[in-house]
Amino acid sequence: MSEPIVEVKNLKKYFPITGGLLNRTIGHVKAVDDISLSIRAGETFGLVGESGSGKSTVGRTILRLTDKTSGEVLFKGIDLHTLPPKELRKLRPQMQLIFQDPYSSLNPRVRVGDAIGEALLDHGILQKGEVRDRVEEVLAACGLSSYHYDRFPHEFSGGQRQRIGIARALVLDPALIIADEPVSALDVSIQAQIINLFRGLQESQGLTYLFISHDLSVVEHLCTRIGVMYLGSMMETAPRDELFRNPLHPYTKALLSAVPIPIPKLKRDRIVLKGDIPSPANPPSGCKFHTRCPFATEICKAEIPQFRHVGSDHYVACHLVN
Ligand code: ADP
Ligand code: MG
Repeated sequence: MSEPIVEVKNLKKYFPITGGLLNRTIGHVKAVDDISLSIRAGETFGLVGESGSGKSTVGRTILRLTDKTSGEVLFKGIDLHTLPPKELRKLRPQMQLIFQDPYSSLNPRVRVGDAIGEALLDHGILQKGEVRDRVEEVLAACGLSSYHYDRFPHEFSGGQRQRIGIARALVLDPALIIADEPVSALDVSIQAQIINLFRGLQESQGLTYLFISHDLSVVEHLCTRIGVMYLGSMMETAPRDELFRNPLHPYTKALLSAVPIPIPKLKRDRIVLKGDIPSPANPPSGCKFHTRCPFATEICKAEIPQFRHVGSDHYVACHLVN
């Protein structure tokens, strides 16, 4: 097993809620509430959970695009959140973020090639005259053509724009890419193409991914391990096949029951969760999932379940699992 490239230990990120005449802090949104995970070099860790469960906040806090409340984030063993800004900037090219909507981060008046090459100049990685060759190389790696260099963002389709987003990250030769719902806005047929691109690039460039999606079927074919989040907590992590074969947390089971499987014999019973996801500003006591769990007992309301190792690199936070 390879070394972890990212280690997250007991990470918390609370956003203050202000109110009243004096705009005082009257509460907190517990977006990320004491989660731990590690991502090993060369793997794809899939982070899944319903919208609002804290996935994006985990990604942004790992990259220190937002400050943490407490806990630790190590990138290649370096504590990013205590690193002086100058040192952090030097590491930036090595860790890149790709988001759902690359169009919003592209200036409509800047040629796509220049947008992709921008960061190479910003970080002093290449000189002006060297950028075009490198960008054309990356365009090709992302399934685009050299003539796309001089085109403007509006001339591209949704799938092509995501290729541009990937190219912008890739041009810096990163070690880690955090992809936050990178295919969620795309048609299913285009989704598959972009996922294949992610997979191909991982093989050719030796990349490590944190792949965030609300849709378990999207991460299924790409990820080596999967983590399931609910209301800021990690409910379960396991290698991909183990998670699909042997889901232990009732929430994971519910998510999996909604994923279509091609083999009718293995048909799972659909578990429909009652109620809506509670507010992370006022999460349920004990196990946060107890208000929607079909199996909840008294202890689930009273005690926070520990996130425990249950074998085969499989971790779960549930009182009902032995
Ligand atoms: P996900 O990516 O799983 O949909 P997010 O990480 O975006 O979840 O959000 C988790 C929770 O944190 C949500 O309740 C969201 O409203 C809240 N949140 C996210 N960013 C901020 C912010 N900058 N300020 C206040 N609350 C935020
Ligand atoms: Mg999100």
